[in-house]
Amino acid sequence: MQEITYRGRFAPSPTGALHFGSLIAAVGSFLDARSRGGEWLVRMEDLDPPREVPGAADDILRTLEAFGLHWDADVIYQSQRADVYQQILDRLEQAQLVYPCGCSRKDIRAHTADGKNTIYPGTCRNGLPEDRQIRSVRLRVPELDIRFVDRLHGMIEEWLPEQSGDFILRRADGLFAYQLAVVVDDAAQGITDIVRGADLLDSTCRQIFLQQSLGYALPRYLHLPIAVNEKGEKLSKQTHARAIDTKQAPKTLAAALRFLGQQLPDDLESSRLDDVWDWAIQSWDSDRIPIARMIKER
Ligand SMILES: [Zn+2]
Repeated sequence: MQEITYRGRFAPSPTGALHFGSLIAAVGSFLDARSRGGEWLVRMEDLDPPREVPGAADDILRTLEAFGLHWDADVIYQSQRADVYQQILDRLEQAQLVYPCGCSRKDIRAHTADGKNTIYPGTCRNGLPEDRQIRSVRLRVPELDIRFVDRLHGMIEEWLPEQSGDFILRRADGLFAYQLAVVVDDAAQGITDIVRGADLLDSTCRQIFLQQSLGYALPRYLHLPIAVNEKGEKLSKQTHARAIDTKQAPKTLAAALRFLGQQLPDDLESSRLDDVWDWAIQSWDSDRIPIARMIKER
């Protein structure tokens, strides 16, 4: 059996159509995989039904296909994996790594001087207070420093008690938290390399702690700059990012490549889509990606 040395993924949330910001993550993860002869998978992070738009998941998949972003195995949907997440949560519970919490956001804000910092103060850590009912389930984080080397940003370090605190794995509305699902699914899919937006850089240490707690292999990380608008806001449905136009695929792909610091030949965007991809896979150089957390979309 051939050993998998590289398996990457793109994991969009179906909260709207694919826009330029999400295309950057798709293109960056795809090229990083393909340029190394690796596999590339797509996972739909549809964990949060109230935020989702009906039809958006299919629309995203059709757009990826129209852009020539072809994936290697069946798409997995987080909405269909609640049983798996519950099993993992049970495992953490048996290991006494999680505990029930009865605090609302308001309770937590009341504990902090500025009313803003939402690091959990540990109220329910040693047992639920008598007047409280179980709302969420939290992971107990120890006094531990987590470090990892991001391929673009270098050494990232976090002192868990202060920068993360005991974080939620199952929310008060009964839905599983992103932090749990992403870690469980990356392990289940055998992902070796995570290439995604730098807005997730600050979640990575807690995800690594969860990977360690569950005995999972640790993937490599590369956090791409995210596209922001004139006001410095991440492109998203909330900031009215435009859906990308599949009829302009070669031009839009060339813009994504430029955003990622790749040096394109002059006539590339007037080429056929297949030729743009051939060039991009051959020439992909992750060392050219700008070392920034965010860049304004021009
Ligand atoms: Zn609590």
